[in-house]
Amino acid sequence: MCGIVGYIGDHSAVSILLKGLQRLEYRGYDSAGIAVLEEGELAVFKKEGKVANLISQLNGTGLHGSIGIGHTRWATHGVPNDTNAHPHVSEDGKIALIHNGIIENYLTLKSELKAKGYHFQSETDTEVLVQFIADVYRNSDVDFAESVHLALQRVIGAYGLVILNVDEPDQLIAVRKGSPLVIGKGDHAHYIGSDASPFLEYTKEVIYLNDDEIAVVKRDSISITDSKHKRVSPYFERLDLELDAIEKGAYDHFMLKEIFEQPDRLRDCMRGRVLAQSGEVKLGGIRSYADKVYHAKRLILTACGTSYYAGLTAEYLFEDLCRIPVEVEYASEFRYRNPVLSEDDVLVAISQSGETADTLVAVELAKSAGATVLGICNVVGSSIARATHEGIYTHAGPEIGVASTKAFTAQLIVLSMLALKIAGERGTIDQRKKQALVKELQVVPELIEEVLDHAGRIKQIAQKYWLASNFLYLGRGYQYPIAMEGALKLKEISYIHAEGYPAAEMKHGPIALIDAEMPIVVLALKDKAYDKVLSNIEEIKSRHGKVIAIISEGDEAIKAQVDDWIEIPAVLEYFAPLVSVVPLQLLAYHIGIMKGCNVDQPRNLAKSVTVE
Ligand code: GLU
Repeated sequence: MCGIVGYIGDHSAVSILLKGLQRLEYRGYDSAGIAVLEEGELAVFKKEGKVANLISQLNGTGLHGSIGIGHTRWATHGVPNDTNAHPHVSEDGKIALIHNGIIENYLTLKSELKAKGYHFQSETDTEVLVQFIADVYRNSDVDFAESVHLALQRVIGAYGLVILNVDEPDQLIAVRKGSPLVIGKGDHAHYIGSDASPFLEYTKEVIYLNDDEIAVVKRDSISITDSKHKRVSPYFERLDLELDAIEKGAYDHFMLKEIFEQPDRLRDCMRGRVLAQSGEVKLGGIRSYADKVYHAKRLILTACGTSYYAGLTAEYLFEDLCRIPVEVEYASEFRYRNPVLSEDDVLVAISQSGETADTLVAVELAKSAGATVLGICNVVGSSIARATHEGIYTHAGPEIGVASTKAFTAQLIVLSMLALKIAGERGTIDQRKKQALVKELQVVPELIEEVLDHAGRIKQIAQKYWLASNFLYLGRGYQYPIAMEGALKLKEISYIHAEGYPAAEMKHGPIALIDAEMPIVVLALKDKAYDKVLSNIEEIKSRHGKVIAIISEGDEAIKAQVDDWIEIPAVLEYFAPLVSVVPLQLLAYHIGIMKGCNVDQPRNLAKSVTVE
């Protein structure tokens, strides 16, 4: 969940590390720290809170060492404070380590180390790890990289680590298991990151480390070995990413930028994949397993958070268009049950980061049961993208705002393309219908542009309701998952308690909450659930609830029945979620801003959930 950065080269490391940490802050932001090798000793600075606090602490220290590591933390073990912040340093002051993940057997290792006389400053699992590595190093006659290798044999858990040892002042050790690490090749320099954002202006030549690989990273060389001590020849890839993709540009916040860039990102996602003329859908990422996918007996969509709602929306599409039984599962529940899987099942794992720990385990579980596994990820080369048999990238570009927006709509586009492809192959829709649907899908970006043109109206509505302490979101059919996603967005961004519900379920419980203080966002589009939703609105109004309705453009009748409305252009029911979610993103954004919240980095959240 955290951000990791490392540098070894000819320049002063501090400014590179700090700039890198600011870029990585979206991954975790409760505390930050750096360690730099300074005239043969470790200089370590750590500070609770934002990277800006660390930067002020470092002001005027004049550090000039050219090898160092930095970390932004998302606490799992121990409260966020200066002491628990990373890097953690071994008791002898020689080894500094940064860690992304969780060491599950840290209590066992800690008591062993305590029995040997070690002392601990922090409450973290990470400090146990650095002491343990130091202990193995001190008590064996192998070099440092080999000591790390030996120590990790005893470690249970997930980690991305970068380690600096004063005895080996010309190298950094990078090693991963379940947490991403990327190494960038510079000019007489190497960079390490949880992703490439910290070093994008210096190099685009990168190596993605694989699980269980240990890299010894020097100024001019990298040597990588796998868990069996076999040398791995470094495989460099060229990043297709520009700096402005990870900068805010003219927008006040990444979230707003990412909401507004949705039309372009969705066009990118469809480019070359949907051909409006012929009605064809081409998914280059599904080749060898095409037969399995198109003739699956069952689809299981698994994900967490917002991606789960993308799955839930797609359930309607796959059932409607492909006539395949579908299950949608929280990855964290799926993996802890004893799911019944067969070779005829296709599991689709959906994850923006491609690193979501629970989803990754679900992927492995399904693979071991013989199912075909597809990945829908945004981050190219991510763990899920590599662990799945085949897949489809969303190509939404880096999503920096912690609450997902454009990655969600891109997932919906990918799932829509997949549904159309499967439906065509199975013959559950005819060519004419497919062609019409492909055409409609292609105009979705324009429809979203129309919604964005009326963003001002959504801000005015936010102004009326931002002081509410609870919200309900209701929708039916295709709009039910969007109600859930709208509520999640508001919770994440504004800390207002919000619940999403199937509209018809309102009367089985939530109706008890409704009074004149309760705003209720109702997705009331002119689809087949329309009349029923109108009745729900009546029920709310009879109890004096305040209705904010998302309505179809030109639906004059409904306007008189609700307190506020936001129109969206006409769109086929299948793809309406792609459009109706956009006003809900903007509503959450504006309410968050009015409440003075940090919408890009909401409290307690982190962008990629690499812990289970
Ligand atoms: N488990 C470690 C800690 O709590 C690392 C958390 C992280 O990934 O930021 O300090």
